[in-house]
Amino acid sequence: MELTLDHRPAYFDLVGEDYEVVENIRGHLTFRLINDDVVMTGRLATKIRMKCIRCLEPVEIPIDREVNLVFLPRAKGKEPGEMLNPGEEETSFYSGHTIYPGEDIRELILIDLPDYPLCRPSCLGLCPHCGADLNRGDCGCPPDTTPTEPESKSWKDKIKKIHLS
Ligand SMILES: [Zn+2]
Ligand SMILES: [Zn+2]
Repeated sequence: MELTLDHRPAYFDLVGEDYEVVENIRGHLTFRLINDDVVMTGRLATKIRMKCIRCLEPVEIPIDREVNLVFLPRAKGKEPGEMLNPGEEETSFYSGHTIYPGEDIRELILIDLPDYPLCRPSCLGLCPHCGADLNRGDCGCPPDTTPTEPESKSWKDKIKKIHLS
């Protein structure tokens, strides 16, 4: 059995606070029955927009990944939530005569999203004083000065000059 996808993100409940899916979920999935297991292979693609954690500018992350997922009949497999050995093929479950790959498709798309998206590795971020985007140039604020410690201040008050000779 084959399934061609060109669905709006909301169809897969791909709506989150820290990301926005800006293109349809596209893909082509093939389902094969091997003994009692159903193997889903194919490709998924879309585009996700996140915010750079430093400068808050939008970062577009293209998603284009191969899919290779095995659905085990629920009675035979382990319960969901019980992780199979990491590194093994990704596994999900089905029961009865119907497969609902929607949740798995959602996870496959979100699994590669970075925790700390950056618009570029060298993003300079925002000026801590005025909030200007430092990637667009210097905002003119004085450079960060490390706060003077109280001790060194009192030291200055007491010793006004040092002469070597
Ligand atoms: Zn940035
Ligand atoms: Zn500034």
